Amino acid sequence: MEKIKLGISTCLLGENVRYDGGHKWDRFLTDTLGQYVEYVPVCPEVECGLGVPRESMHLEGDPESPRLVTIRTKQDMTDRMVKWAQKRVAELEKEDLCGFIFKSDSPSSGMERIRVYNEKGMPVKKGVGMFARIFMEHFSLLPVEDEGRLHDPKLRENFIEKIFTLKRWREVLVKREKRGEVVDFHTRHKLLILSHSPKHYQTIGKLVARAKELSLRELYRQYQIWLMESLQLKTTPKKNANVLHHMMGYFREQLSSDEKQELLEVIDHYRGGYIPLVVPITLISHYVRKYDQPYLKQQIYLNPHPLELQLQNHV
Ligand code: SF4
Repeated sequence: MEKIKLGISTCLLGENVRYDGGHKWDRFLTDTLGQYVEYVPVCPEVECGLGVPRESMHLEGDPESPRLVTIRTKQDMTDRMVKWAQKRVAELEKEDLCGFIFKSDSPSSGMERIRVYNEKGMPVKKGVGMFARIFMEHFSLLPVEDEGRLHDPKLRENFIEKIFTLKRWREVLVKREKRGEVVDFHTRHKLLILSHSPKHYQTIGKLVARAKELSLRELYRQYQIWLMESLQLKTTPKKNANVLHHMMGYFREQLSSDEKQELLEVIDHYRGGYIPLVVPITLISHYVRKYDQPYLKQQIYLNPHPLELQLQNHV
């Protein structure tokens, strides 16, 4: 797989673009995830023409449509930032991004819970950074996260799974040749989708079953919407246990009673929160190899992202 293209707030790469001339280098993003990702840096405040160093800013007014204002001299930068951001998101369309990692707590780049100050100078954490809002409205189906949330192992795993899936899907889109490509992609992603949403698993299954009735363009369009929607829904131990039991069904004839017992116990322990997901996944992968199970062998669910990222290791 080629590297995955992600937008990122420039200061997270260690560039000295912050208002005080500093950066917010995040080593996980550059050194670990960076091995699989090509970043497209975006610093809204510098790129809209404000220098380094510069006066710091915050959001003021209505949390739904706040103004971006410098804190000391009260210059209103809203119109300047909005005009630039609209132009920048149009440019970013050419980049074929699979997601964006925003800098948390920034009035320009933060994706959620940004402080918005009322006329008495009291903050409520209900805002969205000015560029982040315009980006997320423009690319409403793209996976987005901020570096703070990515420290949470579950959110990190979910985001990385989404960008890897989107990248695989984009590779199918590049071919855009036949319905068979969608059917093949879906076959490999079925259990991954099931782990996020049994409802989407059913709906997407029905869509693929009537692939021949739709134009190729419509099939690709609908499939992408449902796929991205399903991945927005979080996996849970209950949903994963359901998938693991489902997989076990494929070995029913081959597993010895000892092996069945062991697998059931491991799934139970995972569901109870005593062991991480990687344990039942590893055991099932072992049986897939041992019994050469052709359908499960191709399931992305068993291998959704590189082992080196050490995901699926949390309980
Ligand atoms: S938070 Fe955004 S605007 Fe601020 S320095 Fe980082 S990239 Fe630039």
